[in-house]
Formats: sequence, structure tokens, C-alpha cells
Amino acid sequence: MSENIIHILPETVANQIAAGEVVQRPSSVVKELVENSIDAGATKIDIYIKEAGRTSIRIIDNGKGMSADDAVMAFQPHATSKIADVNDLFSLSTMGFRGEALASISAIAFVEVRSRREEDTLGTRVEYTASDLVCQECISCPKGTDITVRDIFYNVPARRKFLKPNDTEFKHIVSVFEQVTLAHPQISFTLVHNDKTIFTLPKENRLQRICSLFGNKWNQKLLPISIETTLGKISGYVSTPDAALKRGCPQFFFANNRYIQHPYFYKAISMSYDKLLMPDVKPAYFIFFEVDADKIDVNIHPTKTEVKFEDEKALFPILSAAVKEVLGKSNSVPSIDFDQDDAPDIPAFTSKPMEYVAPPKVSYNPNYNPFHTHSEKTFSSNRPSQNWESLYSAAKEVKESKVESAWSKLDIVEDFSSLHVMQFENKFIILPANEGIKVIDQYRASLQINFEDTLKELELLEVHSQPLLFPEAVELDTKEELIFNEIKEELEEVGFTFESFGKHSYQITAVPNSMNNISAEALLEEFITMCLDEKDVKAEIKKNLALKIAEKNAIKGGTTLNETQMRGLIEKLSKCENQIYTIQGKKISVIISNNEIENKFL
Ligand code: ADP
Ligand code: MG
Repeated sequence: MSENIIHILPETVANQIAAGEVVQRPSSVVKELVENSIDAGATKIDIYIKEAGRTSIRIIDNGKGMSADDAVMAFQPHATSKIADVNDLFSLSTMGFRGEALASISAIAFVEVRSRREEDTLGTRVEYTASDLVCQECISCPKGTDITVRDIFYNVPARRKFLKPNDTEFKHIVSVFEQVTLAHPQISFTLVHNDKTIFTLPKENRLQRICSLFGNKWNQKLLPISIETTLGKISGYVSTPDAALKRGCPQFFFANNRYIQHPYFYKAISMSYDKLLMPDVKPAYFIFFEVDADKIDVNIHPTKTEVKFEDEKALFPILSAAVKEVLGKSNSVPSIDFDQDDAPDIPAFTSKPMEYVAPPKVSYNPNYNPFHTHSEKTFSSNRPSQNWESLYSAAKEVKESKVESAWSKLDIVEDFSSLHVMQFENKFIILPANEGIKVIDQYRASLQINFEDTLKELELLEVHSQPLLFPEAVELDTKEELIFNEIKEELEEVGFTFESFGKHSYQITAVPNSMNNISAEALLEEFITMCLDEKDVKAEIKKNLALKIAEKNAIKGGTTLNETQMRGLIEKLSKCENQIYTIQGKKISVIISNNEIENKFL
């Protein structure tokens, strides 16, 4: 035995490792295969998914098909009909991974292809398993390609184990579907999951495609942008400010009809809305850049959702001005706010030096996972229920250790009606406490009271359903509808009733009576968007719903309260389970001790 420790990996292992670069999850397979179908000139592409792609992914296209030899060749590493040498990389207008996709996929799954070119009478069927050709035969089949990928990662258990629950993986597939279908409205697509048709998209125009994917409500809420400069063309849509959402607003950039992420250009858009938006909402946009292929570097990282534009700095003000202009024209912006200096045609056609905003450094990260980043980008901020359980138990622990000192004075209060109270800044309530004074945040106190009351009602199913005099209509896009169907039953249990009202539309006909004057539609939409990103929300429907209702019903800071109202609030708070911290872990009250006050006078 030699003592050397270095050895060459068996080819199968090497292939599997290489495959990991291309195939991160089922949605990557969908992306690669659909892009191949698009490259093959298909006008109709049907996608059939089983169990979020774990068991099977099948794509049927009517594109140009493959010859018998090509169908075998296609699976060799670096096999491609699309580039011949490295220069082609810089003018690449096709999709995909330069001859890596099919080779990679066949390394980690069972793949079966049926394909026929128009000019051939017989088609061909090939089967690959662990990079090996296991079957090749002539068959009769329709023109085009029909490819099935089964049991992804069957031979890489570590990777398979790493897959997320089906609803998460399917969401990734829907995201890929959105990205690809938005770029190709001239192609008709269907997406079927576990025999259920999720999308049927006919050949249509861009705006129709947006509405087919995200709901007809966008028809009224998008403003068109179209601007041609010497640097390239920018077209697409941005949303009116009122359509901006806290979460889940569709946001898409495309470069030469390929979905990209571009934080720098995102800044150009969000800056253009400036003061038109509440700080926590984001606008929708669908922006398509068309620039010379050699002006963008798609090689910036392996999965290519981030690209670098050569003229990034110059495109920034053009994009920003175009957005401002369209917002201004739509009367969203008072015209006085509209900065004439950056009217859209100036930057590209004058030699006047421009004020540049420095673009961020783009760095290469080989571990980057575009799918993760995408979902975080869209949904990350403002999650009220993040780490729900830990917040809840933390708050509980704090309460248990500190409740004594915080409430000792009140504990012996028998009669709240004689309590000395004072409101401060229309925001805080001040009252005497044992050895000090106590300051209560009125909003947080009221939020916690409402939360505990509502939760109790919902949990005991004591809610009474209250029919709505004017049923409220909600329109959901496909992803939202998937969530809705999952949580519908539980919502009904606590007092909601819904009626289906045509495609993707529902009417809310009754609500739990604790809803008071809250808009059921807004609440439901907010709730669904929250669920979209966080599975845990679904597990905690009642808590989350109680929190939403509590937030809406809580006494806001800035509300003047009279003494009776203040005492009522304090009395109710004294009966809460958590009196020091809200369910979100925020402090409800503080004590300023006599000592602290005395010290100030030293
Ligand atoms: P790439 O797309 O980068 O060339 P792939 O591994 O994805 O690499 O595909 C290899 C080759 O197989 C393609 O170049 C193309 O010639 C052929 N091919 C793959 N899918 C299809 C399809 N759906 N229709 C026709 N040809 C296809
Ligand atoms: Mg490809």
C-alpha cells in the first residue's frame, strides 16, 4: 500500500459535484429545460410537476427537436449547439448553461427524452441514468421534445435531504415560471402540479401576461415605460404608488429577455418614488433592458441572475428619470416635485457630465444561491412574526422574573378608578408605582390586551361570525391562491366565510366579530402575503390573525385619552398574561425608580 493520500475522484462522483453547480433544486431543472425549449423555438411549452419536482419534472415543447445522434450527444459534458468558442460567450443571446445542463441533470436523476425533428418521420427515445446512456430507440412521437426528469438527487442523498418542504420547493418553481414566462409572452405555457393546473397562459402581450400571472388588478395599476437611448432600450412597467405593498409585490428586471437581479437598478427605481411611498412598502416593476450582448457580462456568477452592465452608471439616471416622468404624468407626483433636470432623454444624448451615483461593487460569490436571495429580497423585511416562538417564550420568561417588581404597586390596587394617571405626549401613560413611577406605552399596552383577548376568543372558538352587509371581493394571484386554499379551512373555523367568485376571485361574506371596522380584504391580503414567505405562519394561524387584528384595533400613539380610558387600559393590562413585553417582544412599560430620580438631584 502506498502512503499517498491524493486520489482522482471516480467520474460519477466528479459529475455529481459538477452537477451541484447547475442543479441546486428542482426549480433549477425546470429553468434549464424550459430555456432549452425556448432556444429550440417552441411556441408552446407544457410543464408537469409531481411533488414539487421531487418525483418528476416533465417538459413538453413543440420546438425544433433533435436528431437521433444529437439526442445522445446532448448529454455529453460541454455538448452544445449554441456556442463554438469563447468569443461566442460575449454575444450569447440564447439561454442556459453552455452545454452543461443536460449532462449535469443526468448525473443526478433519471432522464428520459423523446424528440423528433420536423423533417424526420421517426423520432428517438433516449434514457440516461447516472450519466450513462441506458436505452436508445426509434419511436414515433410528435414534433418537438418531451423530456422527463425523475427522482432528482436519488444518488446524492445528502442533497436530497437538503431539499425544503414541497410547498417551498414548489414556490421556487413558480418563481422560475414567472421569470421565464414574463420574458416570453409570445409563447403559450401551462404549469400543472400534481395533476392540478396552476397556470394556463395563452400567447399574449406583455401586459396581459403580467395580469395572467399576477391578477387583473395590475391592469389598472401599472404605468408603461419605454425609452430608447444610445446605450440601449428600457421598457416595461412600474406600479402606481398606491399599488405598492409591504411584501410580495412583483419586482422583475430582465436583461436581454433574461431574468436578472440588480440591486443597483432597484435603487434607481425606489429612489424615484421618493416620498410617494410609505417607508415600509415597495413598488411593483417589470423592467426590460435591451443592450448589446457584449455590453453585459453574464459570467459574473455561475447561476447568472446577477449581471454587470458596462454602462450601469449611465443607465441609472436614465431609468430613474423614466420612472419619475411616468409617475409625474400619472399625477402621482405634484409637478413641482418633478425634477426637469433629469428628463429622460438628456443623459443619453448630451455630453453634459452627469451626476453619477456610484454603483455598488459587484463581487463573485461561488456559494451564491439565486433562489435564496430572491426570496429574501422579496420578503425579508418587516416580519412581525419572525421567531415567533422564541419571542413568545422570551417574553414569558422575562415576565415571570420581573412581573413582581413591575406590578407590585398595582397588585394591591383594588380600585382602579382612584388611580392617579396622566397622559404624556399622547403616547405614554404615567402613574405612581411602588418606589417610583411607571410609564406605559399606550399603543403597546393596547396591542397586547387586544392580542390576548382576540387569541383567547379564536382559540376557544368563541368568535361569532358576523355577516358583511357589503361582501368584500379579493383577487388572488396563483401563489396567493395556493396559500389561501391551505389556510381557508382554519379561517372559516374562526368565523370567516368565503364564496368563490370566478377565476382567482373570492368574496368575503362574513368575518369574526372581533374584526370591528377592519377591512377584511386588506387583512386577508396582508395575511396571505405574510404566509407566502413563512411556512410557520400557517402553523400559527390563530396567533398571527390575532396579532393582525390586534394591530389594527390598537389605540395608536397620538390618541388623546381621558382618565377613564387610561384607567380602563391599565386595568385590562393588569389582567394580561404578558404585561411587560408585547407578543413581538417590545417593552410595554418601564419603571423609573425613586433612586434614579433621587440620583438626578445629586
Ligand atoms: P446548452 O443549452 O447550453 O446548449 P444543454 O445541456 O442545455 O446545453 O443542451 C445541450 C444541447 O441539447 C442544446 O445545445 C440543444 O442542441 C439540445 N437540446 C436540449 N434541449 C432541447 C430541446 N428541448 N429541443 C431541442 N434541442 C434541445
Ligand atoms: Mg440549455
